[in-house]
Amino acid sequence: MAAESKQVAVIGLGRFGMALCHELNQHGAEVLAIDINEDLVRKAADHVTQAIVADCSVEDTVSELKLDDYDIAMVAIGDNVNASILTTLILKESGVKQVWVKAKDRYHAKILHKIGADRVVMPETEMGQRIARIMLDTRIFHYLELGSGLAIAEVVVLTTMMGNPLSAHPCCQGQHTHLLALKRGPELRPHPDKDTRMEIGDILIIAGPESELSVLLKRI
Ligand code: ATP
Ligand code: ATP
Ligand code: CA
Repeated sequence: MAAESKQVAVIGLGRFGMALCHELNQHGAEVLAIDINEDLVRKAADHVTQAIVADCSVEDTVSELKLDDYDIAMVAIGDNVNASILTTLILKESGVKQVWVKAKDRYHAKILHKIGADRVVMPETEMGQRIARIMLDTRIFHYLELGSGLAIAEVVVLTTMMGNPLSAHPCCQGQHTHLLALKRGPELRPHPDKDTRMEIGDILIIAGPESELSVLLKRI
């Protein structure tokens, strides 16, 4: 992860926001952690660059934070939808480059998209979907015969492969098989770099001769 120079503000230090802070910090990002709850800010302080108590649904407070230098701000306020929406609006106007928001449900997500959130995540829903795939451990998610002995397969990356580069995956080592795309959450990355590290829930879309695919798929 090329996070060394990234400056990220995390607003809301619930389980999600706190985990985000830890992970960003571990990967070398510069993290500003904010919450209205003093105890949570104190808890976060050891793991981030700066931790402050502030109400981000108040415009003047946010302008004092000078977030225009930041690459990304994550609004991780879950239950208080009003505060989440207000904070998103204010952050969009504050000059921060990208505003990402955690949504409670799809209606909340819809509103966030309409007011200009750059990215909306629904961790509970997305994680439920990912965990289901891991539980089933289906490996081959979809298989589509293209005729002429060719096929496309969607392959679920197993937990044992996590953290390794794509080049280490058997499906990326075929002579005549091509990695068309990497599906990560709702995002489709065409022709991903083979150095990309695999994450939980990743799906590889590969195409090639069925004869070779069947050999590769037995190795996963
Ligand atoms: P979890 O990730 O644990 O599921 P959650 O999604 O249920 O959390 P909440 O607990 O509702 O989210 O909110 C997360 C945090 O956001 C809380 O610690 C809360 O104090 C903080 N918070 C709420 N409103 C604001 C605000 N206006 N400014 C800053 N922080 C806020
Ligand atoms: P989310 O995934 O939305 O964050 P949550 O982790 O906050 O959910 P809850 O909403 O507290 O979890 O509970 C999840 C579901 O479990 C609820 O729909 C609730 O009705 C159900 N539930 C709670 N107790 C029981 C029980 N004893 N038996 C069966 N279902 C239960
Ligand atoms: Ca929650």
